[in-house]
Amino acid sequence: MPETLPTTQAGQSASDNEKAGLMAAIQEAELPPLLAALAHVSGDLSLLTDDLCPPLPPMKTSIVPQGGMSAQAQQRARTLILEKLLWLREHKVNSASAPDMATLERIITFLTGGASHDYLPLLEHELALDADHGAPKWTKDQVAPQRDFKVVVIGAGASGLAAAHRLNQSGLPFVVIEKNSDVGGTWWENNYPGCRLDTPNYAYSFSFAQKEDWPEQFSIQKEIRDYLRGISKDMDIRRHVRFNTIVTSATYDEKRALWQLELRDANGKGETLACQAVITAVGQLNQAQYPNIPGIDTFSGTAVHSSHWPQQLDVEGKRVAVIGTGASAYQIVPAIAGKVSSLKVFQRNAPWTLPTANYHEKISAGMLLLFKEVPYYARWFRFWQFWISAEGRLPFVHADPAWKGKHAVSEANEALRQDLVAILKKQFADRPDLLPKVIPAYPPGAKRMLRDNGVWAAALKHEHTQLITEPIAGITKHGITTADGQEHDVDVIVYATGFHASDFLDTITVTGRNGITLKQYWNGDAKAYLGINIPNFPNLFCVYGPNTNLVVNGSILFMSECAVEYIMECLRVLLQEDAKAMECREQAYLAFNEEIDAANARMAWGASDVSSWYKNKKGRVSQNWPHSLLRYWQMTRTPALSNYKLH
Ligand code: NAP
Repeated sequence: MPETLPTTQAGQSASDNEKAGLMAAIQEAELPPLLAALAHVSGDLSLLTDDLCPPLPPMKTSIVPQGGMSAQAQQRARTLILEKLLWLREHKVNSASAPDMATLERIITFLTGGASHDYLPLLEHELALDADHGAPKWTKDQVAPQRDFKVVVIGAGASGLAAAHRLNQSGLPFVVIEKNSDVGGTWWENNYPGCRLDTPNYAYSFSFAQKEDWPEQFSIQKEIRDYLRGISKDMDIRRHVRFNTIVTSATYDEKRALWQLELRDANGKGETLACQAVITAVGQLNQAQYPNIPGIDTFSGTAVHSSHWPQQLDVEGKRVAVIGTGASAYQIVPAIAGKVSSLKVFQRNAPWTLPTANYHEKISAGMLLLFKEVPYYARWFRFWQFWISAEGRLPFVHADPAWKGKHAVSEANEALRQDLVAILKKQFADRPDLLPKVIPAYPPGAKRMLRDNGVWAAALKHEHTQLITEPIAGITKHGITTADGQEHDVDVIVYATGFHASDFLDTITVTGRNGITLKQYWNGDAKAYLGINIPNFPNLFCVYGPNTNLVVNGSILFMSECAVEYIMECLRVLLQEDAKAMECREQAYLAFNEEIDAANARMAWGASDVSSWYKNKKGRVSQNWPHSLLRYWQMTRTPALSNYKLH
């Protein structure tokens, strides 16, 4: 595919060469959003015929290509698309305004198969055709020009950047405190071999910072890190960030309605910072968890946690052990299997994997060309990616209380399980010794399901690889011993053993009203109203807080955007009402969490007793959002003031 296509000169009809070039690009295109973009840009809604409407079959094991359009429908769509592209060129159409509401709804109905009307505002927000719908509709100058009000954001990862961007738009003074030397959070820290997205990339981007030219379907770590760094520059955020600085404590002074933050920089120098509101955006997955294995400190080789991979560590030719088979190990193992002299993978529970043929694929040259050729195609494509992975798999992970059996939670979940097992049987047909080890003994969806394009199976079957399911008994100077008495001598141990995810805000001593600390209030069971507010901690707001993590529906950036927009609304209320502080009522907090707990118990991750980072030490699912994206969106549009005390 050439990088540019021959173009029609004014008044000329398209050459065969040009038509062939366009058709080659169309062959590589995702057709439903291309039809949508062309209908939008040309205003010709007759493109959106019923026979071309993508039927969007249920997602089950994988997302079907082209929304499930028949081969015949695809063929007809390609012909219509070519005609329309030639028309655009002939008429020199290279821009368009946002469609009117009726047209927009017609196009969205076509793409979504008639999504419920409730979704429309959410979908328009994601498209952001005419405007940035999440931008605050107020500024500090408008609502409280005289008020001294400063916000501190803790963390400059994706959530912190979203918060900083919205604060910038509102004109509220703010500072971001970041422990690392650059922005990006988890995408700055994790640079292990093979690190990449496992959410489709266009969907894993902010509605307010859409990017047309992602290089891959699931881009590598560097691309995401650079995207976030780009946002920090383009949105003028960096000058507000204090890098290499940690917050050690945050204490609320009730009389003055001020938060006092103790900071420490990389040289150990301390400082106190006062502000009226704190937004925590510290992430859930960055406190490395090392296993509690006897002898762990005695190993004389190189020991690394997946999230702290030393840049200079080269495992080429080395004997390597990887402990864990979660999302991090799942990317590390295939990336190093062909380089090391031996690889021992220590598995406690096998991961469920979802077939994803395009997991390592680039965005095709044809798609990139069409993104340039057709205004808004990239936006409609992002919208499409968002929609097809939004709620589609939820029905397969709902638990049926009447269902009997440990390996599934419902009939639909069992059907998904059967399909996934059939795929594993195929992948490991030549290694019957491995097959029983790679079939998980828990229901699909009880833990995170991982993207599979065959490289995991290939790595496990590699001649240098050994998959060890015998429990680990200890670690010695030379390596790892298993319960059967075997000694596995290695040069490097990789701890891909996850994070202290449920210990929210554990590294900061947060003290609220009446001297109560978060640790005391939570007592090992972190909760928040909407994942955002906690009683006794006025003007403290969390992004990606308790119970806001997603398991199967879509991109976590969506949840962060929702939370940030809600927080901005809370700040507006504070300023407009001239209130000093806003505090969530305990009743709202308790009722919200009671409902969330009941809903999580009805999901595969709550119904199953398998261990996972979704549950805290008390066994409560403290991480996950059990409902649809729509529900979180609706709940975070504006604060219900009856759930708050304004001081
Ligand atoms: P994880 O999912 O918590 O997996 C930890 C692994 O270590 C599990 O296989 C666990 O076994 C094992 N393990 C823990 N302690 C052990 C012990 N004492 N002995 C033996 N095995 C032990 O952690 P992760 O892989 O770092 O992933 C965490 C989350 O980060 C993911 O779920 C995902 O949300 C995110 N992540 C995302 C990406 C991406 O987007 N590309 C990449 C990496 C991570 P059990 O299963 O038996 O507990």
